[in-house]
Amino acid sequence: GVSTGIGVQTDMATPALARFGSDELRNEFLVPAITGDAVFSIAVSEPQAGSDVAGIQTNGVKDGDDYIINGSKMWITNSTQADFFCTLINTSEGQRHKNKSLVIIPSDTPGVSVDKPLKKLGLHSSDTAQIFFDNVRVPQRNRIGEEGMGFIYQMMQFQEERLFAAAASLKGMEHNIQSTIEYTRERETFGKPILKNQVVQFRLAELQTEIEALRALVYDAVEGYIHGKDVLTKASMAKLKSGRLAREVSDSCLQYWGGMGFMWETGITRAYRDSRLGSIGGGSDEVMLGIISKQMGILD
Ligand SMILES: Cc1cc2nc3c(=O)[nH]c(=O)nc-3n(C[C@H](O)[C@H](O)[C@H](O)COP(=O)(O)OP(=O)(O)OC[C@H]3O[C@@H](n4cnc5c(N)ncnc54)[C@H](O)[C@@H]3O)c2cc1C
Repeated sequence: GVSTGIGVQTDMATPALARFGSDELRNEFLVPAITGDAVFSIAVSEPQAGSDVAGIQTNGVKDGDDYIINGSKMWITNSTQADFFCTLINTSEGQRHKNKSLVIIPSDTPGVSVDKPLKKLGLHSSDTAQIFFDNVRVPQRNRIGEEGMGFIYQMMQFQEERLFAAAASLKGMEHNIQSTIEYTRERETFGKPILKNQVVQFRLAELQTEIEALRALVYDAVEGYIHGKDVLTKASMAKLKSGRLAREVSDSCLQYWGGMGFMWETGITRAYRDSRLGSIGGGSDEVMLGIISKQMGILD
């Protein structure tokens, strides 16, 4: 949960600003984000549009030098404490991949309201809430980069989000395996530690192998990203694999904790709940598979 809040700030809400924002915009919004004086959210998803990002309805109508923004954003991480929302909105009519812009909306702008934190299955140390925009007036100079490029910028920004999600999952998964090794080394059944059963050893060894393979993919994709390569396929693969593997690791490990694994206060139980988001947030497994299929040239 804590890493989610930080990751939103560093790798989900600010990469487009860093890459495409004007110097003026970066000084005003990125500098305080880097110094830790301001909290950012990324506001893309809406009640009726999560996977289908191009289907968002929130819009900004030009009025003089401003946009008048109306709409709502759903499931927004950090939103109850955010100073700024990096927000994807429709800024014109027309083709839905070319009519969007990323606009920074300060949370204290009149007409912005944030609902109470949502009750979630996991990630309880990360706040998530719905935001409403009611005739919110924001200067057009708060737009990141060119008008109409918002969808493209957000797709690029998603690449860093997905690499972060995959990278951030690695240590947690290894921690789950380590804590399970320690528990099963102490806990005995039928006169010997649970860990002394080969089936347990082999399962943990296999999961550790999968983590190492994911780490290699993440490192490869991140290296390409740092060198300016298009890592769409590898970032999507890493996100897909990490979401699935995190669920597999937490579920398999929990099994070896027996009844303790079903108790709320046990760490592995928290990992089981928290890891579930990995296959949904930031683009579901199916969305990742769609991107990979498209890159392979096999999408219908
Ligand atoms: C805790 C939490 C934090 C979040 N934080 C943020 C945030 O900070 N900012 C933000 O913008 N959003 C955030 N989200 C939203 C998140 O990105 C979306 O929930 C996610 O993209 C899925 O969208 P949806 O919930 O609308 O699911 P839907 O689009 O309704 O899809 C539901 C399910 O249908 C399946 N599906 C969808 N499309 C297809 C398809 N084409 N083929 C096959 N199956 C498909 C998938 O399994 C998917 O999970 C957060 C969500 C949660 C739960």
